Amino acid sequence: MNQPRIAVYPGSFDPITLGHLDIITRGLEIFDHLIVAVANNDEKTPLFNIDERLELVRQTVGSNPRLEVDTFNGLLIDYIRHRRAHIILRGLRAVSDFEYEYQIAQTNHQLDKNTETLFLMTSLPYAFLSSSVVKEVASHGGNVDSFVPPPVQEALRKKFAARSDSWNNGIVRI
Ligand code: ADP
Repeated sequence: MNQPRIAVYPGSFDPITLGHLDIITRGLEIFDHLIVAVANNDEKTPLFNIDERLELVRQTVGSNPRLEVDTFNGLLIDYIRHRRAHIILRGLRAVSDFEYEYQIAQTNHQLDKNTETLFLMTSLPYAFLSSSVVKEVASHGGNVDSFVPPPVQEALRKKFAARSDSWNNGIVRI
């Protein structure tokens, strides 16, 4: 019997967007088992902490026996080996993604020749969608409902309401 094809879709998911969700949905059509691996990376300062990001991914993807949500820190390639996966799934939007993704894919392949990175091209409606843009729009009170799933809409509203309360409090105290 053939081995099940296990792929890992790694990322910051700060927060998960409809672009990510599209890659996950299409990835499930291709692989037997897909692990969405949320990076717990000390070098980046995320808007949502690791527990919040994991919870938002879980709420967004629902339950599917072929889909798993997990976290990792350190080298992705170590996590890939630990999970006995051989495929890294990534999404490509514009040409601007290419150089970075190419570098990372080459490095990972160099570190482990058994690991391949596979790319899915973004679906057109999400071609310009990124977590950073979503955070930027939401931070100024803009509507991000067409960019992110409902649990994230709610979480962004709460996050920025809490922030503006604390900013306002700061201003009042001065
Ligand atoms: P990272 O910090 O690792 O780039 P992200 O959460 O920003 O993490 O992205 C994870 C992966 O999802 C990357 O491969 C990225 O190119 C892809 N991705 C992000 N947004 C989209 C989108 N709108 N369409 C397709 N792929 C996307």
